Amino acid sequence: MSAPTAIRFADRLSNVETSAIRELFKLLGQPGIISFAGGFPDAALFDVEGIRAASERALQHDPAAALQYGATEGYPPLREQLAALMAGKGVAGLAPEQLIVTTGSQQALDLIGKTLISPGDKVIVEGPTFLATIQCFRLYGAELISAPIDGDGVDVQRLEALIAQHRPKFVYLVPTFGNPSGALLSLERRRRVLELALRTQTLIVEDDPYGDLYFDAAPPPSLLALSAELPGSRDCLVHCGSLSKVLSPGLRIGWLVAPPELLAKAVMCKQFSDAHTSTFAQATAAQYLQGGRLGATLERVRQVYAERAQAMGAALRSELGAALGFVPPQGGLFIWARLTGVGRSGAGTALADGHELAQRAIAQGVAFVPGRPFYASAPDPATLRLSFATVGVERIREGVARLARAL
Ligand code: PMP
Repeated sequence: MSAPTAIRFADRLSNVETSAIRELFKLLGQPGIISFAGGFPDAALFDVEGIRAASERALQHDPAAALQYGATEGYPPLREQLAALMAGKGVAGLAPEQLIVTTGSQQALDLIGKTLISPGDKVIVEGPTFLATIQCFRLYGAELISAPIDGDGVDVQRLEALIAQHRPKFVYLVPTFGNPSGALLSLERRRRVLELALRTQTLIVEDDPYGDLYFDAAPPPSLLALSAELPGSRDCLVHCGSLSKVLSPGLRIGWLVAPPELLAKAVMCKQFSDAHTSTFAQATAAQYLQGGRLGATLERVRQVYAERAQAMGAALRSELGAALGFVPPQGGLFIWARLTGVGRSGAGTALADGHELAQRAIAQGVAFVPGRPFYASAPDPATLRLSFATVGVERIREGVARLARAL
C-alpha cells in the first residue's frame, strides 16, 4: 500500500514491519478453529463483579480524581497499593514514589526505549523474547542481540560473554514464565545475573507480567526483590509490572520501578505521550487492590491455567511423542515447543519447520504461532508457541489431536 505523496514517514519506521503473526491471526476467524495462537488471558476468568464494585467505589469516593486529569506519575493511592503489592512479593522498602503507573507494562517498555536507546545502540534480549519488545526497541533504532536460553532461563555464561563483546545499553529479560518461552530463571542464575550487572555496571530491565501466574510453587523472588541481597545492584535494575495477566489487560495498568534519574526522564516522556494513565482505570484498580480480592482471584486463575497446562502437556506427550520437545511450564500462559524432526514413535523423519506446520495445522482446524518471529536474531525455525490459556481442557485435547494429524 503506497501512501499519498504528502505523507513522508519517519526513517525509524523502516526498522520495523508489521508482525508476521498478524497474517496468521487473520485466519483465526474461520469457524471451528481451536486457537492456541493467542497471548490473551481468559476473559471468562475476569472478576467482573469485583471490578464493577471497585469502579463504583472509585466514582463514589473520589469522583473528581477518577474523572479529572491526574499526575503523570500516577494516582497516589494506586502507587501506594502497587508498592504494597511489591512488598508482598519480597520487594522490601519500595516507596510509592519509586514507581510510576504506566498504561500497561507495554508503555513502560516504550518509555525505556524512548529514554535509553539512540539509533545504533546495542541491546541484549533473550532468544526468544516478547515480540512487541523486539519491535518497540527496533523502532528506537536498537541493534538487538539475542542471548540463548534453556529451561532455566537465560544462559548467564553466554550473557556475560555478550556483555563483554557488545557493551550493550541494557539487557532485557523476562525471568519468570517468559513470553513465548515459559522459562523460569533459576534462583542461582538470578543471583549470577545480579552479580554480573553490578560487576559490569550493566543495566538490566526485568519485565515481570507473569510472576503471579505460577501453578504449584511460587517462583524465586524477582531480580528486584533479590537485589536487597547485593548492595548496589538495585541501581542496575529496572522492573516492569502489570495487572494485565492477573486482573484485566483492558484496564491498562502497569508500572515501572527504576533508579530516580531514569524514572524522572520516563515521567517527562510520558507527559508528552499520554499525560497520564486513565485516572478512572487507576482509581478502579486502587479500589480493587484495597478491597483485598486479588488473592482469591489469583488462586482461581492459577488453578485453571495449571489444569490447562497440565492437559496440554499430557496431550502433546501422548499425541506427538518424540516429535515434539518441550519443558513443561511451571506458570504463565505458554508452552514453548520444538519440532525434533523425529517421527511420533521415534522413528523416521517428520516436519521440522514451525511455519509450515502452522499452515498445515490451520487446514486441520487448529492454530498456534510459529517461533521464528520471537527471535531478534538467529531464529530457530523448528520452534512453536502454544497458548493453553483460553481453551478448555476438552478442546485442548481435540486441538492437540488435530495438531498431531497436521504433523
Ligand atoms: N511484557 C510481556 C512479556 C508480555 O507478554 C506482555 C503482554 N503480552 C507485556 C509485557 C505487555 O502487557 P501489558 O501492556 O498489557 O501490561
